[in-house]
Amino acid sequence: MSELHNILQHNQKFVESGGYAEFLTDKYPERKLAVLSCMDTRMVELLPAALGLRNGDAKIIKNAGAVVTHPWGSVMRSLLVSVLELKVSEIMVIAHFDCGMRGLNAQAFLQRTQEEGIPSDRIATLRHAGIDLDKWLKGFDNVEDSVRHTVQIIRQHPLMPEHIAIHGLVIHPATGKLTVVVDGSTDTAPAQPA
Ligand SMILES: [Zn+2]
Repeated sequence: MSELHNILQHNQKFVESGGYAEFLTDKYPERKLAVLSCMDTRMVELLPAALGLRNGDAKIIKNAGAVVTHPWGSVMRSLLVSVLELKVSEIMVIAHFDCGMRGLNAQAFLQRTQEEGIPSDRIATLRHAGIDLDKWLKGFDNVEDSVRHTVQIIRQHPLMPEHIAIHGLVIHPATGKLTVVVDGSTDTAPAQPA
């Protein structure tokens, strides 16, 4: 059975019993914080618990690897909206050890699309159209370098105000222990490229 059914069943009870009451807040983050983190399932509850974040405290943006791959993509736009519309003054990029994006390579990934029935000539067509699938699907080799790189993209974005602190951290996916890679409040110089 699809999870949709289970979730809708739970949802009906949740709403009817007023389960939402303890989560009521507004759209402005209480702690003036935005967090970019990985979509890893181990961090669904661990991340806010390890950071001491409650509902309403922070804008949390997640993707595979906690990366900004493009300065004009949706992650960067979300961070800018957080800062310019929603009063965020501090950004934390929080990747994690043992991330599935470490060592991701396009060849293996595209092989799986073929196993799922995507015709190989479609991939050839995309390449001919100038889409660099190898670059687009490439993960990272070193998590700290990836965090530094993403902090740098955010820091150097032409629309990001200078006074916003951009931090980079790595979290342990089991214990939740944080390691600071870039302290944006003291590191005024942008991190060097990886
Ligand atoms: Zn991850």
